[in-house]
Amino acid sequence: DTTGEKASAATIHFQNQSKKLENNQDLSDIKTVLAEIIAETQDLTETSKTLQTQLDESKKEMQLLRQELAQAHETAKTDALTGLFNRRAFDQQLDKHIKIHKKNDFELSLLILDLDHFKRVNDTFGHQVGDNVLRYTAHLIKQHIAENHYAARYGGEEMAVIMPNTPFSKAMEIAEKIRSSLAQHPLKRKGSKESIGKVTVSIGVSGFKKDDSTESLIERADKAMYRAKDNGRNQVMAENFV
Ligand code: GH3
Ligand code: MG
Ligand code: MG
Repeated sequence: DTTGEKASAATIHFQNQSKKLENNQDLSDIKTVLAEIIAETQDLTETSKTLQTQLDESKKEMQLLRQELAQAHETAKTDALTGLFNRRAFDQQLDKHIKIHKKNDFELSLLILDLDHFKRVNDTFGHQVGDNVLRYTAHLIKQHIAENHYAARYGGEEMAVIMPNTPFSKAMEIAEKIRSSLAQHPLKRKGSKESIGKVTVSIGVSGFKKDDSTESLIERADKAMYRAKDNGRNQVMAENFV
């Protein structure tokens, strides 16, 4: 603002001075006007230097703010413990993909995973170990899913994977891989290497149908997951189980 005001004022002064010069033949008058012009020009040069410095600083600050904003966007989508997407991001993504899949004929599948007897892990080995098991499970899920799949922490020890453009049979296959690789080896505590036994997971799988809502798609995967629990845990159950 200051620079703008100074520049406007200078423009008016220069116009006046130029008029004075036009109608004047007197050398000493001309010298006076020229001195004024030189002083004003120097003043303007200073002002514009200051402005440049301020602009450079603003530019840096803006870059920093942009980075911070991008970081904040990421943080808002991420579950701090597991690094998976959080529930909010999951809800948004599922909503988005359901809208997309209503318009095309690709398949959309959904996995809901719940760790088995997880309370026991916490009760026996402590909450920290429980946290590490959650991190480990999240990592394992990520290793088995495709790049366009979207893994989220759905609740406490529940996770979910949105699988766009993925046939139901493929989703079942991936779910089974996650289940079997988790159940394969007993887990060991970091450091002491004390065994914490086998940690297993129950998984329910549902596939999108044209008249599905987010709720109905989740409900069928959830039901299948609970059925897997009732059936003895450590298994994958498809929707429409009989
Ligand atoms: P089920 O096989 O029926 O699922 O049994 P469960 O013990 O896994 O289920 P329950 O719902 O009884 O217990 C879930 C446990 O998960 C209880 C809770 O303390 C634990 N949990 C939830 N969130 C976290 C977390 O962030 N960290 C840890 N360490 N534990 C968590
Ligand atoms: Mg649970
Ligand atoms: Mg559980």
